[in-house]
Amino acid sequence: MIVIFKNTAKPEQVHALCESFEAQGLKIHNSEGEHTHLIGLIGDTSAVDIDWVRANDFVEDVKRVSEPYKKANLKFHPARTVVDIAGRRIGGGHFAVMAGPCSVESEAQIVEVAGAVKESGAGLLRGGAFKPRTSPYAFQGMRAEGLELLRRARAATGLPIVTEIMNTEHIPLFEDVDLIQVGARNMQNFELLKELGRLKTPILLKRGLSSTIEEFLMSAEYIMAGGNENVILCERGIRTFEPSMRNTLDISAVPMLKSRTHLPVVVDPSHAAGIAWMVEPLALAAIAAGADGLMIEVHNDPPHAKSDGAQSLTPAQFDALMQKIKGAAAFFGEAMAV
Ligand code: PEP
Ligand code: MN
Repeated sequence: MIVIFKNTAKPEQVHALCESFEAQGLKIHNSEGEHTHLIGLIGDTSAVDIDWVRANDFVEDVKRVSEPYKKANLKFHPARTVVDIAGRRIGGGHFAVMAGPCSVESEAQIVEVAGAVKESGAGLLRGGAFKPRTSPYAFQGMRAEGLELLRRARAATGLPIVTEIMNTEHIPLFEDVDLIQVGARNMQNFELLKELGRLKTPILLKRGLSSTIEEFLMSAEYIMAGGNENVILCERGIRTFEPSMRNTLDISAVPMLKSRTHLPVVVDPSHAAGIAWMVEPLALAAIAAGADGLMIEVHNDPPHAKSDGAQSLTPAQFDALMQKIKGAAAFFGEAMAV
């Protein structure tokens, strides 16, 4: 971190600030030029509050030169993290596809879709039980009953389950969920992230609708700082000025994230596009960009789905896509977790 002082800064003000940095365990590198006086802080500055430094009226500017996230940082953890979800590995050359309906709607529906996606080569079953809907009048999910139906689908197929949590109070209900999803809308629900940091269960963290890459990584850092280092990041499209798709898939976030973090990065082309026919090109683009996995919505009867039918693939469409996904993953040297 670099702190630049105003020309009017008094030596005693600079001295007092330097002392408070030193009290935080930091070393000071002083640089006094003809026109500019600045200091470089040496050491771990991740706990230094940049606004607290800026609040001093003798400070001209403050710049971070190292990232504020440590545990998620590739620099301090050069080996890629491989997250093991009930035997399915993601990251570091292991690729997994999570597929299933947006919402769990009935036992017959979830068991049928689970069987179909497994047959096509999916490694995990997704299904929402607690649904974050824009309208309070829209289907809110089957809640605890939906979790029970996911367990039955898991028992029937052997596929581990991934499902979204929205509230810290629900954590006991998610005890045997294999991969807990934090949705885009909760990416900065810091109390939820802190509580999930106390668990051992792997967490799938989706990128917020308008979050920067650094904010996304800081949210992962929240979970990791609590002791849970099994975090998978999911790029699911961000909000831009373009209305023809539900969101804009930020494909460039995949290589950028992978240059900054050792955590696995998966892509959800379904929520990015909002349109079923776009799922295939976006899924294949994600693999080419270096994604470690995909999350894809599949429904046995998309026109009658209780949520996100327009972006859901039929099992037959998913099967055809899986053939291409397997080929693309193999081309890029990824081992498919099934
Ligand atoms: C979902 O996966 O069903 C979902 C609601 O996703 P997102 O949080 O990315 O909108
Ligand atoms: Mn959905």
